[in-house]
Amino acid sequence: MSKRPRYKACAYCGAVGPTTKDHVVPECLFTILDSQMITVPACFECNQNKKLHDEYLRDYLITNPAAARHPVAWKLLLTKFHSAVHGHHSVFGRAIAKASVEPYFTPAGIYLGLQPVAEVDMEAVSFAIDFIVRGLFYKEAQIPLSQHVVPKLKMVDSLDLAEARRLRLGQPHREPITKGQGVFEYIVVLDNDRLESSSWLMWFYEAVGFSVEIQPAPVDAGSTSTIR
Ligand SMILES: [Zn+2]
Repeated sequence: MSKRPRYKACAYCGAVGPTTKDHVVPECLFTILDSQMITVPACFECNQNKKLHDEYLRDYLITNPAAARHPVAWKLLLTKFHSAVHGHHSVFGRAIAKASVEPYFTPAGIYLGLQPVAEVDMEAVSFAIDFIVRGLFYKEAQIPLSQHVVPKLKMVDSLDLAEARRLRLGQPHREPITKGQGVFEYIVVLDNDRLESSSWLMWFYEAVGFSVEIQPAPVDAGSTSTIR
């Protein structure tokens, strides 16, 4: 007898139907999965769409000079990324291969040496982060985030991350939730009376951060996801 499918609301699109357990933070970002991974129910279509940009997100994150200090990112860079570039099946790897080497300055003007400057598809990164935000929202609020709500994403430079964390942790009862030896961490400020109004800070490999603001959908919902 075949297994009965689980009929639930998909955490990403809200459609009710057969679902499978989906890892909110892509498994490919880890070398060892811990027993407490964040999973949500997802429909087949969302599960497949989300997978499209997982490796791009990983390669984008682990090639960040600050992330390379993290042992997991470093290991992935030397193994998965290296073999993907070698086998010419890394989209991000192809961009790196074509990159020019230029002096790299942080937004604060600190010189970090010569770094490859690759054309990054921020749409792809934004797409992947948007899924993660929706998955985390579901985990915290126990309902899918409305499709009309567009989370506003903003990158947080590694040098600004410590200050951003300090500001969030200054608020009462805010502890970061950590997965896989600091591969992924987040702090959420969620208003239980207005669930669709929340503020998130998430970061990968203790280096690459995103602040995310979620506001209830305006009546005229026609905006697009932005990332800077
Ligand atoms: Zn779905």
